[in-house]
This record gives sequence, structure tokens and C-alpha cells, in this order.
Amino acid sequence: MRKSALAVCAVSLSLCFALQPLMTINAQSVVDSDEFFQRASRPGPERDYTQKIDDLIKRMTLEEKVGQMTQLTLGMIVSGSDQDVRVDPAKLDKAIGKYGVGSILNVADQALTVDKWHEIIGQIQDASKKTRLAIPVLYGIDSIHGATYVRGSTMFPQEIGMAATFNPELMKRAAEITAIETRAAAIPWSFSPVLDLGRNPLWPRFWETFGEDPYLAKVMGVAFVRGLEGSDVASQNQVASSLKHYMGYSFPLTGRDRTPAWIPENYLREYFLPTFDAAVKAGARTIMVNSAEINGVPGHINRHVLTDILRTELGFKGFVVSDWEDIKKLVSMWRIAPNEKDATRQAIMAGIDMSMVPLDYSFADHLTALVKEGAVPQSRIDEAVRRILRVKFELGLFEKPMPDASLKAKFGLPEYRQVSLEAARESITLLKNSNNILPLAKTTKVLVTGPTSDSLVSLNNGWTYVWQGSEENLYPKDRHTIRQAIEAKVGANNVTFVQGTKITRAPGPSNATPTDQDQEVDIDAAVRAAQNVDVIVLALGEGSYCETPGNITDLTIGAPQIKLAEALKATGKPIVLVLVEGRPRIINRIADSANAILMAYNPSHEGGTAIADVLFGDVNPSGRLPYTYPRTANGLINYDHKPFETENTSFGNMAFNPQFGFGDGLSYTTFAYSDLKLGKDTISANEELPVSVTVKNTGNRAGKESVLVYVSDLVASISPPGRRLRRFAKVNLEAGQSKTLTFKLRREDLSFIGTDNKPTLEPGDFEVKVGGLSQKFTLK
Ligand code: BGC
Repeated sequence: MRKSALAVCAVSLSLCFALQPLMTINAQSVVDSDEFFQRASRPGPERDYTQKIDDLIKRMTLEEKVGQMTQLTLGMIVSGSDQDVRVDPAKLDKAIGKYGVGSILNVADQALTVDKWHEIIGQIQDASKKTRLAIPVLYGIDSIHGATYVRGSTMFPQEIGMAATFNPELMKRAAEITAIETRAAAIPWSFSPVLDLGRNPLWPRFWETFGEDPYLAKVMGVAFVRGLEGSDVASQNQVASSLKHYMGYSFPLTGRDRTPAWIPENYLREYFLPTFDAAVKAGARTIMVNSAEINGVPGHINRHVLTDILRTELGFKGFVVSDWEDIKKLVSMWRIAPNEKDATRQAIMAGIDMSMVPLDYSFADHLTALVKEGAVPQSRIDEAVRRILRVKFELGLFEKPMPDASLKAKFGLPEYRQVSLEAARESITLLKNSNNILPLAKTTKVLVTGPTSDSLVSLNNGWTYVWQGSEENLYPKDRHTIRQAIEAKVGANNVTFVQGTKITRAPGPSNATPTDQDQEVDIDAAVRAAQNVDVIVLALGEGSYCETPGNITDLTIGAPQIKLAEALKATGKPIVLVLVEGRPRIINRIADSANAILMAYNPSHEGGTAIADVLFGDVNPSGRLPYTYPRTANGLINYDHKPFETENTSFGNMAFNPQFGFGDGLSYTTFAYSDLKLGKDTISANEELPVSVTVKNTGNRAGKESVLVYVSDLVASISPPGRRLRRFAKVNLEAGQSKTLTFKLRREDLSFIGTDNKPTLEPGDFEVKVGGLSQKFTLK
């Protein structure tokens, strides 16, 4: 089903392309979150396809309609495996000719060239043209941080790193490029962005999220959608998006993938709905369902979430696709239905429009029977099919099921790599820099060591050419690991490399998909090599993983890595710790002995270069941590906790002491905040509150600063969080330069979801906090 690919080498693009060291893509000196959000939230003009859809619906048989609601995996129409797949005419005829399936996806390890994708999807679309009504097939893939399954595509930092940039313009541009490269491969639909919130760091999909804060994730999510869909999704440069995984998937009690969450509706609406709400209003075409359950109700039968909230409240017009095999799992996992037929009925009646079946024809057979028996009304089928056809019309697939061949020329352009490099540079977050040990002089002798120091797989993580991202032989050959980038920057003579420990993939406990295992390699050799250098660059973290194979039961970083760090500490040489990891692994035993700590997240192919740029001062770091980094494995808390949770009260609660806080991030320059002013001391509910603050670069080099505006509701009928992020802006300041920024707060920035599950605005005192300054105001 899903298996690793071991095969042929990758196509490397633009071998002669030299990355420009300091070019800035984002020429704007201030990117304001609210201005961006308002602009990016506007979908383009709608075209009316009602007549065309009506005409088709009238002519379609029940079987043809159910076919449109069926999504199969590529394996159902090809023979061969991995990179060596060929369309099998008999299988294709069954899928398209007999069942008329509406959509195909692939997850198994097909990293194919653009030409190969044209060949395969061309054959699929040719088959669909020969059907009675010639309805094109909608092919979809997970373009999570670039066009995943397209060889040679441009990869960008994973969402968690994009969040750390606090620069939605960069997110939009990355998504635009992803759309071009996905569509260039004849694929018009992407299962992204991930709009789940990363509020439990154990969750193996944490790095697929924009972190823990709903406002940051909402702005970045809308940037992703606008980048993918543009203002005219029919244009050959765009693809339809799929918001996922609607909703509450990311907050399982155990931290393990696809396990139950308990989230009361007011908290669901406060934290987990806003990203989806904003992206739906921005016009996103499709949405994918939470594969797990909340409050005992599996996502796929949750009519309240899928219909009452999504359709009636949010006004979503696109279609809802299930996640992988999830109707079957209603029987096999959730035990919510006695058999698959009943599971199909429950899911369709709850609001699923398309089923990612994807390995057999059971769904189509069950649904056809259910309609014939009257258990599912014909009107529900027509509604789902209308939504699916509408997206196909909007994508222009009826006129042009295949893109112009000329679009291939837009694939893999050198400037795309530059955007990826810029994003990686802006994501890297400097968390500690004792005695300004960084930046290092380019004459420094360094030992580069650690399991992530020479690994493109760690820099990328999952959804990179293959599902688990684990097949390095499919990666382009000309991208630098951290070690190679440092060698390129300061010369191989200044660099000693000793691996120290490694992370390998080995079969998990149930012998299922292989998972990461930490192993010692040559710790003693690393210690010996440290004697002859000035500084140790120790790169720790994680390998690659995705979904359930990434489950862990302990957030602590691998024991061999701690052993390596402690052995190096004993040498007395300064240590610069570089973390390449998809979630915050506990480092409290080694953090204090590191002189500097750089968080790289999963910065992708240009990450090695970006890290070297920061280490040696060619780039001034400007990333901010988009989550709270816990100090202990059980010390899990988010930044917007209740004040009493962490105060040293008479009940003995301990002071809040994470390893690093949300929004942390240092620079090689210094910034001073002054003149925080509120336009008014007292406002009424419908008034805007202007907030201005002056930020000055008080150091001696240019730098970018993310200005974060928090609001605290001081007294509320639901115990208020200490603070909530309500605005941010990324500002570029020359040495000595200052800028006054003005933000406008509105009523939604002061309200919360009450016990009645509705937005509630309560008069009283509030506080605005920016860069260590604060000002109070009163809501009348
Ligand atoms: C994942 C989804 C993904 C789908 C198709 C599922 O297992 O949960 O995020 O879009 O597979 O690859």
C-alpha cells in the first residue's frame, strides 16, 4: 500500500545556478498581518456554472454520479511500482470506463518527472473523454511544502518554519510556485494547507502546522490558499486547495496520530475553527476531514461539524473529501458502524461529498445500493456531485483537462530556489547566543557533528518526493547539507566532520512502516576531533517521519544525541547547537551547556545554506518561535495559558518555565520599542482602536524584526488567557533606523467564544502588550 521507494537517482535542476547571498525577495519594508490578511482573503470573481451543472446532472445515471464521488489511488489503474509505473489499460477501463471515478490520488512512493505525469494523467483524461459524458478526472496530491511527488520540484520550509518567518508574503509566494509546479505536472488539486493547530508537540504532524497560535496560523493559512488558488483558479498557474484536517485533529489527548481528542465546542470554536473559517471565506475550493474523533464522534460522521458549522454557518460552497480509507475505518477502527454499507450511509448523510476509498470499489457499490433502497436520498447525491462538478468547471478542466505543454517551461526555475532560500533564512530562529558567540568569523576552525549535520532528509522531513521523505536517492544532488554548506562558506580546510550519532529507519514495534531510531556511530572520534577546533557545530534533532509512523511516547531527544552532547561539553569547547526537528524534542540536559542555539525547523533544500549564512553572519536571523518549547517531557503548555496556571500561588503551582517561549527569537542587532500609544482610552464595541508603537534598530547592522501585538482581556466570564496574539508585522530596519507602526484592533480582537458557543464581547479593561511595553484601555 504505502511503501518505501528505493530507486533511480533524482533529476537535479539548475546545476549551474548560483544562489545569490543576500538578495531580498520581499522588497516591502513592512509586512503588516492585517493589511495582508484583508487583501489575501479576497477571492477572485466567481463564474456561474449552474446551467452547465444542471444540464449534466439531468443526464447522469446514479452510477455515474456515485462514480464522481469516488476517489481511488493510482495503484488501482497502474501496474509496476514506485517510479516504474505504467497505466494498465484493463484497470483504467474498469476505473474510468465502468465506474466513472471522479478523482485519483497517489500517496505511495511515486516521485515522477513532469513528463511521466503528463503521460499518466494524459491517459486518464483520454479515458474520461471517451466516457458517455466526458467528465474530466480531478487528480490530487499532497503538495505540502512544494510539489511533493514531482521529481525536481522546488521544496520550501515546512509550514512550521514558514510560520516562524512571520512573513505571509513569503508563504504566498511559496504557494504560488508550488501551484505552478503542481499544475505543470498536470495535477490541478493539492491537499494543502494543513490548518490544524500545533498545540500538542508530541503529535507527529506538528511540523505540518503553522504552530500553536490561531491568528498566526489563520494569516499564514490564507496566504497559502491565495498562493495556490490565485484570483482565477482556472488559470494554468493555479490549483485548487484542500483545507485539512477539519477539525480538531491535531489535539489528541495521547499526542499520537489519529487518537481521540476531547475539545468542548467553545474551545473548538476559539482555537481550531478560525483557520478554517478564514480559509473558507477566502474561497478555498475543497476541505478534507479529520481522520480521528472529537468528543467521541469520528470526524467522518460529525454532521454538526461537516454540515451545520461548515455549510450553514461558514457558507462553504466547495466539496468535502474524506481522508484515506476513513469510511472503512468507521467500522474497523472507530466501531461506529456495524458494516461498511452503514458507515457509508452515515458519512454521506453527515456531509462527505467524495470518499478517498481508495483501494477498491466498495464505496461506489454500497452507495449505489443505499440510494436504490432509499437509505440515502437522491437529493443528497445530487448536492455532492454538483459541488464536485463545480470545482472541475472552475478549474477549467472541461475545456482543458491537460495543461499547455508550454507550462513545463515554468517548472523548476532558478528564481524559485531563491524564494525557498529566502524563506529558510527568515525562518531560522536564534534562541540563545551567550556572549554573542555568533556570528562566527569565517576563519573559525569548526567541528561539524551530529545526526542532522549531513542529512538532506532531516532538513526536509516528510512529504518530500515520497510520503515519509526518507528516500535520499530521489533528492536533487546539488543541495547542501549543513556540513556541505559550512564547507562551501569557510573552506573545507576549516571544517572537520565526524558524524557522532545517526538516525536510521528501522521497522517499528508492529513491523509496520519503518520509524526513526537513534544510534551511536563514533562519539569518541567526535570528542577527539573537538580538541583541534575553535567551535563545535552540533546538529541534533530528528530524521523524517509523517503521520502515524512518527508517533513517539517520549518527547526527549534521542539518548545517543544527549550522550554525544554531554561528551562534547566535557571538552570545554564552545558548542553551537543547531536543531533540525519537526517538533520540540526535550533538550534540557544539554541546553545550558550550549553557548548558542539555532532552531532550523525543517528548512528544506536551501536550509543548509541558510544555516551557514546565519552561523557566519551573512544573514541576520529574524525567525520567531511559533510555539512554546517545553523544558520537560510533561511540561506541556501553550503561551496563551491562564495566568493562574503558572503563578506561584498558595496552592503551589509552579512558575511557568518553558525552555523557550512562543515568539522568542534573537537578532545580531538590537531593537528598542518606545511610544506605545492607543488612539483612545475608552472605546465602544464598534469602534476601532488604533495602536501605534515605534521600533528602532539600535545596533549596528540591518535587521528584520517581527513586532508582535498581544491583547489581554483582564476579566472575563470564561477565565481569560494571559494574552493572545492579535496582530504582527515584519519590519526591515537599517542600523539606526526607526519606524512607527500603526495597527488597528477591532471587536473580534476583544471577543471570545462564550459558554453559549457564540462570540462574546464583554465591557471592561483590556491591556495591549508590544515588545515589553503595555497600555490599558476600557471597552464600554
Ligand atoms: C493524510 C492526509 C493526506 C492523505 C492523502 C492521509 O493519510 O492524513 O493528510 O492528504 O493521506 O495522501
